[in-house]
Amino acid sequence: MQYESGDGNGDGNGDENGDGNGDESVVMIRESTLKMADAKSRTTVDAGDYFLQNIAKGETVRIVDLEGNQAADTLFYSAEDPAERYCASNTVREQSALYLTTGSILKTNLNRDLLEIVADTCGRHDTIGGACSTESNTVRYDLEKRHMHACRDSWMLAIAEHEELGLAKEDIGHNINFFMNVPVTPEGGLQFADGVSAPGKYVELTALMDTIVLISNCPQLNNPCNAYNPTPIEVAVWAAAN
Ligand SMILES: [Zn+2]
Repeated sequence: MQYESGDGNGDGNGDENGDGNGDESVVMIRESTLKMADAKSRTTVDAGDYFLQNIAKGETVRIVDLEGNQAADTLFYSAEDPAERYCASNTVREQSALYLTTGSILKTNLNRDLLEIVADTCGRHDTIGGACSTESNTVRYDLEKRHMHACRDSWMLAIAEHEELGLAKEDIGHNINFFMNVPVTPEGGLQFADGVSAPGKYVELTALMDTIVLISNCPQLNNPCNAYNPTPIEVAVWAAAN
C-alpha cells in the first residue's frame, strides 16, 4: 500500500516500490476544510440503525467513524429517479482501482457521476465485500445467528418507513462499505481484514447530482473486523459552497 500526503497530484500508477506484491492501491489521505460548526445537519447513528437523507447537488456529506473500525454500509440513489443508483462495477472500472479514497468518483448504473470523495482521513473503503444479511450470517457464522439483526434488515426498514421514495426490495443493490478493509490477495482472493480506520476518521463526499443517501450502520456482532463491538457513526451535511 502506498500512502500519499494528499497534495492532489497522485499519479495513481501504484506499486512504485516495485515489490510486485500486487498491492497497487493508492491511499489519498486528505483532510477537509469544512468545520462541524458550519454543518446544516449532524446526526449520530447507532449501530443497527439507518440514516436516510436527500442531499442536493453541490452539498457535502461527511461520515465519521466515531469509535473506529465500524462499517457504514451505504447505498446511493439519484433523487430524481432512484432507478439510477451507485454502481460498483462502473465505479471500479472507470477509476481502474478496487478501493475508494480521495478523488474517487462514484458512478451510477448509467455511468454518470453521482458523488466525489473530496476528503478522506481513513484512506481505504471497500467496494466488493457487500453487506451482511440474516442469510449470510448463517453461512459465515452459524445457523443460530439467523435471527440477528443485519444491514439488509436496516435498509428494508428504511424503505418501508419511507414509502414516498418508491423504493422496493429489488432496489437494495450492491453497496459501499465505508471504513471497511477487504483486501484482494495476489491470487484474487478476498480477505476481511482488520480495519484500517480509527476513532474520528471520516470520509466526505460532494454530491454531483441530487442524491438519496441510505446508510446501514452495521450491527454485526460476529465479525472480528470491529472487535465484535459495532459502534456509532456521525453523519454531517454541509450546504453547497457559493
Ligand atoms: Zn452489516
